[in-house]
Amino acid sequence: MFFNFRKCVNIITLTVRKSHSIKRFTHRKTDLTKVTYNVQRQNFNELQQKHIDFFRKLLGEHRAVMGVSNLEKYNEDWINNLKGSSAIVLKPKSTEEVSHILSFCNDNNLAVCPQGGNTGLVGGQLPVFDEIVISTELMNEIISLDDNSGVVVCQAGCVLESIDNILAEKGLMVPLDLGAKGSCHIGGNVSTNAGGLRLLRYGNLHGNVLGLEVVKANGEILDCLSTLKKDNTGYHLKHLFIGSEGTLGFVTKVAMQCPPRSKHTNVAFLGTQNFGKVLKTFKKAKQDLGEILSAVEVIDSSTMEFIDEKLNIKSPIGEYPFYLLIETSGSNESHDTEKLNTFLETALNKHFILNGIVASEPAKINTIWSIREKIPEGFKLCGAVFCYDVSLPLEHYFTLVDDMNIYMGNLSEKVFGFGHLGDGNLHLQIEMKEFSKEVKDHIEPYIFKRIKDLGGSISAEHGMGFLKAPYLDIARPQSAIKLMRDLKILFDPKGILNPYKVLPWRIF
Ligand SMILES: Cc1cc2nc3c(=O)[nH]c(=O)nc-3n(C[C@H](O)[C@H](O)[C@H](O)COP(=O)(O)OP(=O)(O)OC[C@H]3O[C@@H](n4cnc5c(N)ncnc54)[C@H](O)[C@@H]3O)c2cc1C
Repeated sequence: MFFNFRKCVNIITLTVRKSHSIKRFTHRKTDLTKVTYNVQRQNFNELQQKHIDFFRKLLGEHRAVMGVSNLEKYNEDWINNLKGSSAIVLKPKSTEEVSHILSFCNDNNLAVCPQGGNTGLVGGQLPVFDEIVISTELMNEIISLDDNSGVVVCQAGCVLESIDNILAEKGLMVPLDLGAKGSCHIGGNVSTNAGGLRLLRYGNLHGNVLGLEVVKANGEILDCLSTLKKDNTGYHLKHLFIGSEGTLGFVTKVAMQCPPRSKHTNVAFLGTQNFGKVLKTFKKAKQDLGEILSAVEVIDSSTMEFIDEKLNIKSPIGEYPFYLLIETSGSNESHDTEKLNTFLETALNKHFILNGIVASEPAKINTIWSIREKIPEGFKLCGAVFCYDVSLPLEHYFTLVDDMNIYMGNLSEKVFGFGHLGDGNLHLQIEMKEFSKEVKDHIEPYIFKRIKDLGGSISAEHGMGFLKAPYLDIARPQSAIKLMRDLKILFDPKGILNPYKVLPWRIF
């Protein structure tokens, strides 16, 4: 028995979130991306009446949307950091419509920007200039669901949480989960190779996506929509599109392997003394909890201070230098609970952890998870925040936060870190009173070089998008970048698919 631990009673007063759709923030004024970042427009044609006529004939007026106010939500990102100036948003419903649109744009040298739920955090989904936005908003049909194999096939615009709700009826679940699940689309998830909260347990989308249907820049439909778990017939083309952020093709359909939904879940929220103890607890959790361990998240004390200041969310266990959120999920309540209790008892006796609570009822589990999931909501209440999503070897996971605290000195309000510890994925934030390009230039490329020196990756799960593209050469050797460019030319010779993204748009 685990004596010293409190069961999660009604001590937390956070609101339980039922829907996870993200709210957009409209008070912060955003300058045009092309001006802030001084980007040179590439030589694409501008939208003309004859183009508008074609799109309206194909889709009708309601699915070829124009007008500044109608386009606002497609031109700006969730956090109001970036702003494009597209004059038209196209909303196809079928693969064939996407194919007609791309074939026409390719013939007429018109640049396009694929957009899903517009929750991306590196600006890949936003036009930089006047690129035509092609939204998957109306491509939201589930095509088939085989509850024997656990394979779902759906259109790219299905919202992640909606797919999960449908799967739940069959005792299945989506193998990925993220804070933006109520807004992001599966096509956007595939195109960013989204990671999220359960990657530790289920792996990434390169493993879970069985097949894709993709439309190439010239409108050709590429059918790689296999639903088989094993299919070694030649090159595995689907992998080129997973994580290519809309630069190689437009994803129209996804076939995904979905695991059984766990019958029983526990969540522990723990306080620790230092990062060394965090690592010891994580190692012990892997050893003791084994197959039922489904998520391990870490939050530092500055992050907790931040959400207290911005969102009035407090730690339910008092103040500690670091907090861990550990989730178990499995099929046998008494077995899982016993394993968790034994682990917690050992961790407490060894002084790896100092305090904690455990929840096993859904409402209380959601309440604990919302501490972690609500952190990004606070970003919208800052003057500005620079977000860095990085991978680091575990021994250096928090070195970067300490380094950046020293490096920033008085230039920032706060430097704080949290993230998916289980995958070595840190989210480091630098809070500012207001956006300053000079300060951003002070931080970058310094931070990316430091990450590289520590043996990490400058993008763990959000991708390169627009914001990180100029730094690709820090992340990858020239030979790899050349091959990426060659692939881009092969798939999209005119470069109309999501220009200024992934590949460097500026040479330093
Ligand atoms: C609160 C919050 C929490 C988040 N948590 C996580 C997290 O835990 N893990 C994580 O990985 N990310 C996270 N993100 C980032 C974001 O949600 C993911 O990157 C998500 O996968 C983007 O999906 P989307 O549909 O919104 O795509 P968008 O933002 O619309 O697009 C993202 C990129 O994909 C391209 N794209 C979109 N649809 C298509 C398509 N059909 N074909 C080709 N290209 C396409 C776009 O051009 C763009 O480059 C979070 C974001 C927020 C706001």
